[in-house]
Amino acid sequence: MLSIQNIAKSFDTLQVLNHLSFDVKDGEFVAIVGPSGSGKSTLFQLIGGVSPIDQGAILLNGEDIQRKKGTIGYMPQQPCLLPWRTIVENVTLVEELHHKPNVERAKEWLEKVGLASFIHAYPNELSGGMQQRVSFIRAMVSDKPILCLDEPFSALDEFTRLEMQAWLLSIWEEYRKSILFVTHSIEEALFLADRILVLTKRPATVKKEIIVPFERPRKEEIRHSAAFTA
Ligand code: ATP
Ligand code: MG
Repeated sequence: MLSIQNIAKSFDTLQVLNHLSFDVKDGEFVAIVGPSGSGKSTLFQLIGGVSPIDQGAILLNGEDIQRKKGTIGYMPQQPCLLPWRTIVENVTLVEELHHKPNVERAKEWLEKVGLASFIHAYPNELSGGMQQRVSFIRAMVSDKPILCLDEPFSALDEFTRLEMQAWLLSIWEEYRKSILFVTHSIEEALFLADRILVLTKRPATVKKEIIVPFERPRKEEIRHSAAFTA
């Protein structure tokens, strides 16, 4: 279980998060929603380990997340691709830091999201939505038990977004990872998540928790709709 315990975070005098606590069970799919500027990306930077916490703790099965490096697959809001590396080299970047990268799997998953012909291209040759899919795949291929996806599909056209949502659901069905994602789309949150956490305006804390009352589509239906995998 991932446990966010009473965390606080400020940038100089600006307090962004305060008394923020929630748990995510193993295999749970959780959406985070809240006003722009409320601190959702800041929260994910703390969970993703790219920014230090001021107060409180983030525990994974009772152990400080800082000491369990390599357990979170973090997709930042901006794709942050290195311009001098090809697309596949960008995808394997995080894995290279920890162990031997699985280049074949990176290629295979890039193909699954419709980027087969861009594997050896450079980031500036891709559109914003394509770069977002590369960043998504970079977080996905590393095979981490927990994924933190910050607005993973915000730059995509409606059709591609539906395909990506279906594909993410089918991956979750297959591997049962814990997935946290930020979205501004309540429709997306209701479609994907088990539970929706609503953050307050700054300093953000959890204002409301919504248990999604709908059944997800059946696995066959998800697979059927995921054209990229066909
Ligand atoms: P959006 O929905 O627009 O993505 P958000 O909820 O993700 O918004 P954050 O990006 O977490 O919001 O920003 C929360 C607040 O923290 C904002 O007021 C922002 O200006 C401030 N902030 C974020 N990062 C920094 C930083 N590195 N230095 C100073 N202030 C920052
Ligand atoms: Mg954000």
